[in-house]
Amino acid sequence: MAGNVYAYALGDSLYLNVTNKCTNDCAFCVRKTVEGVGYYDLWLEKEPNLNELLEAAGDVRQYREVVFCGYGEPLIRIDLVIEAARALKSLGVPVRVNTNGQAGLYHGRNIAVELSGLIDTISISLNAADSGHYVSLCRPRQGEEAFPAILEFARQCKKYIPKVILSVVRWPGVDIAGCREIARSLDVELRVREPAGTFTSA
Ligand code: SF4
Repeated sequence: MAGNVYAYALGDSLYLNVTNKCTNDCAFCVRKTVEGVGYYDLWLEKEPNLNELLEAAGDVRQYREVVFCGYGEPLIRIDLVIEAARALKSLGVPVRVNTNGQAGLYHGRNIAVELSGLIDTISISLNAADSGHYVSLCRPRQGEEAFPAILEFARQCKKYIPKVILSVVRWPGVDIAGCREIARSLDVELRVREPAGTFTSA
């Protein structure tokens, strides 16, 4: 399916696609391995505004949850995510954000507190047990600053968001045991994902 796909259903969840942009260039990113997710071509010619996004989402009450993911990093568009999440929460639907965890570094402020009361779950892509491996696998624009910023973001999310999940892609050289130890130290769940269809901590 071509065109600007701002919302698409997978199973009983609705996914919102808000941007192509990302601060990473992960080796396993679905953006460079396949054309999209399922039959959806998710590359956006134009990013949605609030009205376009909510119109594409339709009646969200039929879904188990609504997930901000994007073909890129959704929290790059923090203002849109906040406004859309506020509208979705008013309908009583659970909201999740899948993120690379660099929003605080990218925007230069505490993004977790801004999501307080609007997001039920945040899934943060960890993908490495140390900064060196993170940089080589995810190639963040901010280089070595990214990994400690992700850990700090996770700590802040623990304060303001009911459920925080770290995720790791099963990929050659990834220290899953080390990631598990980080998750344990932060007192959050770790989810291990397979690389196919991988993007933004889905
Ligand atoms: S996998 Fe996610 S974080 Fe990595 S480049 Fe793709 S969209 Fe960005």
